[in-house]
Amino acid sequence: MINIVIFGAPGAGKGTQAQLLAEKYDFLHISTGDLLRQEVALGTPVGQRAQAIMNRGDLVGDDIVVALLARALEKRSTHPDPDSLVDPWDRQRHGDPHRPEGCIIDGFPRTVSQAQTLEFLFARLKRRIDLVVAIDVPRDELVRRIHERAAISGRADDTEEVIRHRLDLYDQQTQPVLDYYRVSGLLVTVDGSEEIPDTNRRICSAIEARW
Ligand code: AMP
Repeated sequence: MINIVIFGAPGAGKGTQAQLLAEKYDFLHISTGDLLRQEVALGTPVGQRAQAIMNRGDLVGDDIVVALLARALEKRSTHPDPDSLVDPWDRQRHGDPHRPEGCIIDGFPRTVSQAQTLEFLFARLKRRIDLVVAIDVPRDELVRRIHERAAISGRADDTEEVIRHRLDLYDQQTQPVLDYYRVSGLLVTVDGSEEIPDTNRRICSAIEARW
């Protein structure tokens, strides 16, 4: 069982890599960006509150994001008597043998305060973070990739101005989170400037070295 947090600036390919890892290792993949986009698509009150913030490229409030993440982490008990199982993640295993044992979290934490919240959420589930992977891509390459993605994704937060804002926010708010994990020895930085399979190979080596 392994719990991974994956980091990468917009355009670094963290969502793609998280998806590939989830498939390869049968991990549960939780993306806070996807959870929020789902709320927006469903037009829920939370989605309505989040939409304008996301379109501006700003960070959605912790109250919303933490609630969605906690729900995704805890929504797994299908065992007839889940309380009889000590580890809630064991409940998931007993409930459905195809459910993954490890998880990969993408998009959270984005601030040091969210990093502390994640520790709290994990402690409640008797789990811990085993590895933090940061995908490193030079800024010019990030901008090039986001433009490319914008042409096909139609994401409202992929416009020129919003992209620059999201990259600045990543530098200001999320880079300090990496320092936080570096101090605790959990951080592995992986070169993400080449093709998707190259980055994937590097991440898999980092995971398997810890497993
Ligand atoms: P992503 O798909 O990870 O690039 O996230 C898309 C957008 O969702 C971000 O630009 C934020 O507006 C919002 N978002 C995702 N995760 C978080 C988070 N942990 N905290 C605040 N906002 C978030």
